[in-house]
Amino acid sequence: MTTEILNLYDLTLPDLETLLDSWGQPIYRARQIYRQLYIQLTTDSLAMTDLPLALRERLAAETQIGTLQLVRLQTADDGLTRKALFRLPSGEVVESVLMVYPDRATACVSTQAGCAMGCVFCATGRLGLLQNLTTGQIVEQALWAARELQVLSSELSVLSSADSTTQNSKLKTQNLTNVVFMGMGEPFANYDRWWQSVERLHDPRGFNLGARGLTVSTVGLVPGIRRLAGESLPINLAISLHSPDDALRSEMMPINHRYPIAALLDATRDYIAQTHRRVSFEYVLLQGKNDWPAQAIALAELLQGMLCHVNLIPWNPVPGTPLGRSDRARVLRFQQELFGRGIACTVRVERGMSIAAACGQLAGATVGEAIPLVSA
Ligand code: SAH
Ligand code: SF4
Repeated sequence: MTTEILNLYDLTLPDLETLLDSWGQPIYRARQIYRQLYIQLTTDSLAMTDLPLALRERLAAETQIGTLQLVRLQTADDGLTRKALFRLPSGEVVESVLMVYPDRATACVSTQAGCAMGCVFCATGRLGLLQNLTTGQIVEQALWAARELQVLSSELSVLSSADSTTQNSKLKTQNLTNVVFMGMGEPFANYDRWWQSVERLHDPRGFNLGARGLTVSTVGLVPGIRRLAGESLPINLAISLHSPDDALRSEMMPINHRYPIAALLDATRDYIAQTHRRVSFEYVLLQGKNDWPAQAIALAELLQGMLCHVNLIPWNPVPGTPLGRSDRARVLRFQQELFGRGIACTVRVERGMSIAAACGQLAGATVGEAIPLVSA
């Protein structure tokens, strides 16, 4: 069974060294393999031509490079947003999104198939928790995005040399600059595996992504926030707040019964005191529910004096929910109320709406939906 074969993406460099040592190979071979995996982005051990053929063959026979099967690829925004649907060995599916901007490229990756948190406005939440992803499966999504970006950059450079007026000629990056853990699942509910994926992606001997390019978003699991405060890598923290009062927040996000707003903000203040890093609060705007000016004022009072920033996210529709997306005027009014009270605030740029790749729309294939196989 493929599930039982060792996945190289699950191994740290020291793990790989131990493996190679047990095979009677010199330790430096581990570094070569590690570079192949995380710098060359090689997906086939037989293609690691700096290794002796016998070693390549043993790797091919006894290990695998990744466990995700790409079953569907969709694009939007002139090809600059790309959403992948992957099947896990268990048969469950997860989604990942690559968003390319002129000066940066971001992978939005999943940490779980489904999610146990049950937020009423989120497509993933309606699935319940199906499975925790392994470290290797989380890492693999970022590597997919990095490879996808390389293909895209070479396509665009051909395009832009043919037509210098194309906006795509402005693409300046060939490397992934950001990974956000904002896909399916709650990262802090799969903390250990998720954190190891952070360390792997950051490792300067391999993928070498700067800590400030990594952002985790949490529903507000207080123990996770406290744990992150003590970690050595200064990654960014985003907290899904979505309401300034407990009654409404509990209605939208059941986790609020366990960790109400006061406890959440206490943990956040401690996090800021310990790390001196600014946190982001995400606030999904639902028409007539949490987008009234009075709620903006209450939010500003809650966050007064905190080293923070509010990211407003107009709700992305999830079929079958009775919720509505705030219209532009209400979004702007809400933002103005925050601004007027000295709270830094932005409205999230929207990507991938046409392919349900935007925040909170990731749910994999719904029951009965045909999954077209990717041909290339
Ligand atoms: N589980 C984590 C991270 C994944 S969700 C969390 O909840 O923070 C990433 C962000 O998308 C969260 O802020 C979440 O509240 C938001 N989100 C969920 N559903 C959404 C939707 N339908 N429209 C817009 N944002 C949504
Ligand atoms: Fe889970 Fe985040 Fe969706 Fe809530 S918003 S159900 S925590 S993925």
